[in-house]
Amino acid sequence: MSGSAKLRGGLAPYAAREEQSRGRRHPEPRPDFRGEYQRDRDRIVHSNAFRRLVYKTQVFVNHEGDLYRTRLTHSMEVAQIARTIALALRLNEPLTEAISLAHDLGHTPFGHAGQDALNQCMRPYGGFEHNLQSLRVVDELEDRYPDFHGLNLTFECREGILKHCSLRNARRLGDVGERFIRRQQPGLEAQIANLADEIAYNNHDVDDGLRAGLIEVEDLQQVRLFERQHAAVLEQYPALSERKRVHETIRRMINWVVVDLVRTTGKRLEEAKPSSSDDVRRRPRPLAGFSDAVLEEHLELKAFLRERVYRHHKVLRMTAKAHRVLEQLFTAFLDDVDLMPEGHRDVARQAEREHGTAGRARAVADYIAGMTDRYAILEHRRLFDPAERT
Ligand code: MG
Repeated sequence: MSGSAKLRGGLAPYAAREEQSRGRRHPEPRPDFRGEYQRDRDRIVHSNAFRRLVYKTQVFVNHEGDLYRTRLTHSMEVAQIARTIALALRLNEPLTEAISLAHDLGHTPFGHAGQDALNQCMRPYGGFEHNLQSLRVVDELEDRYPDFHGLNLTFECREGILKHCSLRNARRLGDVGERFIRRQQPGLEAQIANLADEIAYNNHDVDDGLRAGLIEVEDLQQVRLFERQHAAVLEQYPALSERKRVHETIRRMINWVVVDLVRTTGKRLEEAKPSSSDDVRRRPRPLAGFSDAVLEEHLELKAFLRERVYRHHKVLRMTAKAHRVLEQLFTAFLDDVDLMPEGHRDVARQAEREHGTAGRARAVADYIAGMTDRYAILEHRRLFDPAERT
């Protein structure tokens, strides 16, 4: 039996199935040796936007140290957590992986700070939403195939990438926007990728926060998810170095929430018995989730990170700097699109002919959103530092 046949045989009734896919926007012949969702994943990995994730950050600025997570390593951590969960629940693993690897493709430079700054700049022109931008990257902005714009991914993968979306935008998006209007759910593979994202960043931000010296192990002892595992590791290995103790604690924290998620979701699926992935979509609430007890602790850790890491003065200073850099880049390019490299300038002119100033602003936002942290810093220097070569 071939690998994919084995997979199909093992899929649960509520898993995504290629033969029931709503397909690609531009129909293509089936791949010879891969499944459709494997092709999605491969196109994502080959994209420019994916390669740029290596120089984009989530919380910490890329040049501050080589040890911190970047969006690339974050996306890979999300994918491996999500694949484990998908396999345990007999969901479609290649689709789960593709959604996980693509989920952050639309992120701006400088993490959340960059996204907020660009959203503020774009407010008069329809705003900037990073999930929507991820979809825009795979639907429009990647420019490499002769027959279509974007990567021409399957509906199920695009649906998973669009995690959130304002109603106003949902109305003009067509098929992938429908569920926000009808208040329906995405397929289970998307629900799992979404939760794996939260598990990954909660845990790696603890690790990075400790490494960066923003928080101490003692601070984390008020966080139940951490303290339970930390105490157990300390008892089992009293002589372990702090670095190893922290690593082992985080490893167990991830395992704890993943096991809870698989068990809780498995139980809910047994009770609800959805007959297909469309049946999953019609439910008023997501079927994937944590138990109440773990959800409460998961939210406690999130709140701790928000207060102690994301709002640490060193991070806020970086945030303020990032804000200024992106705002100044946006204003300079919007005032004079000739300052952008030719390709982007031509796109901006064309967009302005079709959609006026809002079109020009969108092209500027696309250019800035595609920048890595270090490219944004370099562009800023080239524009504003008279001593810098252009
Ligand atoms: Mg993410």
